[in-house]
Amino acid sequence: MCFDAARAGCLTMALLLNVAHADVALVSEGEPRTIIVTADKPSRVVQYAAEELVRHVEKACGVRLEVLAESAVRPEARKRLYIGDSRGVREAGIDVAKLAAEAFVLRVTDDAVFIAGNDGGGDPLDADTRAGTLWGVYEWLDRDLRVRWLWPGELGTHVPKTKTVVAKTCDETTAPRLFQRRLRAGLGFASEHPALGFTAAAFKQFSEEQSVYLRRHRMGRSYPVSYGHAFTDWWEKDGKAHPEWFQLLESGKRGPNKKNGRFSMCVSNPDLEREIVARWAAKRPPHATTPGFINACENDILGLCSCDKCRAQDGAAPDDYLKFYPPTSKMVGSRFVSDRYAKFWLGIQQQAPAGATVVGYAYFNYFQAPTSGIKLNPNILIGYCPSAGWFPRSAEEHAWMKQQWSDWRDTGARLFMRTNHLLDGYCMPFILAHQFADEFHHAVEKGMVATDYDSLTGHWATQGPNLYTVARLHVRPEAAADEVLAEYYAAFGAASPAVKSYFEYWESYTTRNREKINQAMETLQASRWRSWAKAAHVLYPPECFTPAETLLEQAAHAEENDAEAVARVKFLQLGLQHARLCARVSAQLSLANSTAAKDEIKHAVDELIAFRRANERSGIGNFNHLAWVEDSSWKLSEETRQTPDLYP
Ligand SMILES: [Zn+2]
Repeated sequence: MCFDAARAGCLTMALLLNVAHADVALVSEGEPRTIIVTADKPSRVVQYAAEELVRHVEKACGVRLEVLAESAVRPEARKRLYIGDSRGVREAGIDVAKLAAEAFVLRVTDDAVFIAGNDGGGDPLDADTRAGTLWGVYEWLDRDLRVRWLWPGELGTHVPKTKTVVAKTCDETTAPRLFQRRLRAGLGFASEHPALGFTAAAFKQFSEEQSVYLRRHRMGRSYPVSYGHAFTDWWEKDGKAHPEWFQLLESGKRGPNKKNGRFSMCVSNPDLEREIVARWAAKRPPHATTPGFINACENDILGLCSCDKCRAQDGAAPDDYLKFYPPTSKMVGSRFVSDRYAKFWLGIQQQAPAGATVVGYAYFNYFQAPTSGIKLNPNILIGYCPSAGWFPRSAEEHAWMKQQWSDWRDTGARLFMRTNHLLDGYCMPFILAHQFADEFHHAVEKGMVATDYDSLTGHWATQGPNLYTVARLHVRPEAAADEVLAEYYAAFGAASPAVKSYFEYWESYTTRNREKINQAMETLQASRWRSWAKAAHVLYPPECFTPAETLLEQAAHAEENDAEAVARVKFLQLGLQHARLCARVSAQLSLANSTAAKDEIKHAVDELIAFRRANERSGIGNFNHLAWVEDSSWKLSEETRQTPDLYP
């Protein structure tokens, strides 16, 4: 057995055969000892998996392994590493057609290594392409080469140097524990002031590197799943013929309370349940082999129907119903309606064909679990989507958030993580890795089957420990936060202790300012996910940066011989410099109080834009995300409405 099974949290099955084999050397003392073999016509996934393996081995030892199609391999050739399905793999008794979705076999025998998995035929970087073989390559790189993908791009790819590369003996079959692992890429942020964002060429580079990174952390899914606010166009299409499917307002009217307004559904109406199933069935291909998911997620609004039948289904509101929402929350004054939604989902599921799964969101005034004692079942899949609970949380609030997950779990439904909390924090050194990991661990322990985090904002230089933890836990769900962070810090060589102190300083700073953050957001009417830069200067005043800068200077001095580690420290310094500049511009332009005149605006943004242009290829952060936050946060003028390629 070649590794500690307890650490491999992603295993659903590990078939360990008690056959003694020797390790296989791929490279010995700088000499290649193994060739990589693929099928004569490898799929795109297999080709890419082979390229990834070659790239990382070369980075480790400077040796570029040869890749050959199996018909081109001479019989007397040296040892082989088979990647993907091929004759040689089948002759070894590995049948990838029999593997679970995205599963892979990793087997090292006396004279060969086999990495072959369940793959789809599409683009290897597309999250919808099953890529078991690629996951097998990453698992091997992770274990035997100790590769760590800290952030996107070459600098963030940590491959320890070695002269000898060995595949350690093993034989196992592994599938991802979560059928969907999703960190929304955050590449779609469109600002009204795009001059603050990336140029087109820099955006292309950023996007490509990030897509590669996400696959290296095995983001993807076993089969297609679609859900999301399900009824947004129903009023327009069906409101005239079936007003009874829609919310009854206190005024006695059905549907939205104003033209084009949002609306919820009358979820106690059995005709609506039947219609949802019928529409799903009409679109479902007749011989579909993938699991069926019926989208029954309420629109992006509270459950508001006030009809007698809906109200009769409601359970008693929990005593702590509004305890953790700020006074400005839409939740204030709302009615607790989880039971009517639980009954709605169950009603749909009971009318659906066997095996189909109904998807709903636990959201707004149906976020807490039902109180009427209703029992659900695994064919109901609920997205955990709180409208509060931003990190950092008090111990009490954190325990409350976890309790809501447990309570839904106790209904018998399956759960997936669908939070918006990662949109928080702008590009500030806003560190919350430990609390995030604790929530993730709790969810894993209580049956989490998938994730869909909205969104990766990509501030790799200032929020690296958060993002690495999020990504890494998707591969090693049970790894302790400190274990994950130790991997991250270790990549800084002799600077590791100073870098650790640096991020601990920021995590402590973030945690201890919890009240201040919450209050500033309320007072300045700033949104955690949309207009953080209204408050950045209040939460990150100049003096908070000084001790952090000192720690990074110490880090820079601790490591002078390892060029890669030095460059990584510089990356952190660049991120911090940029964060400080952003906080300063926030002080001048925050919509909460700015009196800046046109020339002052220009002066402030020119300096920022110059910095971003000079460093947009560094990968320190997603500048398009920042431009999107800043357009709702700052007093800006017409000039920055130009594209970055034209400005100034
Ligand atoms: Zn109703």
